[in-house]
Amino acid sequence: MDQCDCGAIAGPLGVCVDYYHGILAEEQADPRMGRWHAPVVCAYLLQHPSRAHEKYLDGQFRLLQLYLDKGLDALLRVAAHQVARNKHGARSSYDMAPLAAYTPLPPGGSPSHFRATFSGLPFREGSFVSDGHLAYGHRIETIAEATVESWRSVRATQESQGR
Ligand SMILES: [Zn+2]
Repeated sequence: MDQCDCGAIAGPLGVCVDYYHGILAEEQADPRMGRWHAPVVCAYLLQHPSRAHEKYLDGQFRLLQLYLDKGLDALLRVAAHQVARNKHGARSSYDMAPLAAYTPLPPGGSPSHFRATFSGLPFREGSFVSDGHLAYGHRIETIAEATVESWRSVRATQESQGR
């Protein structure tokens, strides 16, 4: 059976990268679905850190926490601010000021299991939003929660082992 490097079993479309590319393509044609672009990207990269730039993962982990804490509109405001900042040449990393209150990414090791994954997303009638944008948004939120939860448990495991 096909297994993704995040530990998920492949779905009808394939492993998570196939779902991720499908979401990015559908977002292009559907701006309402595109509102969840930032949490989709952050959760995907944190569930598949070998595909990510390590120096951005901490900021992405904190962005997901901000999303779960304050909601999508707050995340969109911070993300828009990051884009504006990058246009002014500060490309090196995320502006950490709005993210400083959140838990940093635990060093060393990544989770081997997430209770909600991209390859588990339903894809019906050729669409990720066939049952509506709110239902889709709720599923992305569940994946975001699962992502933060598993990364936090990595740290808890390390602490209990005295590292
Ligand atoms: Zn995966």
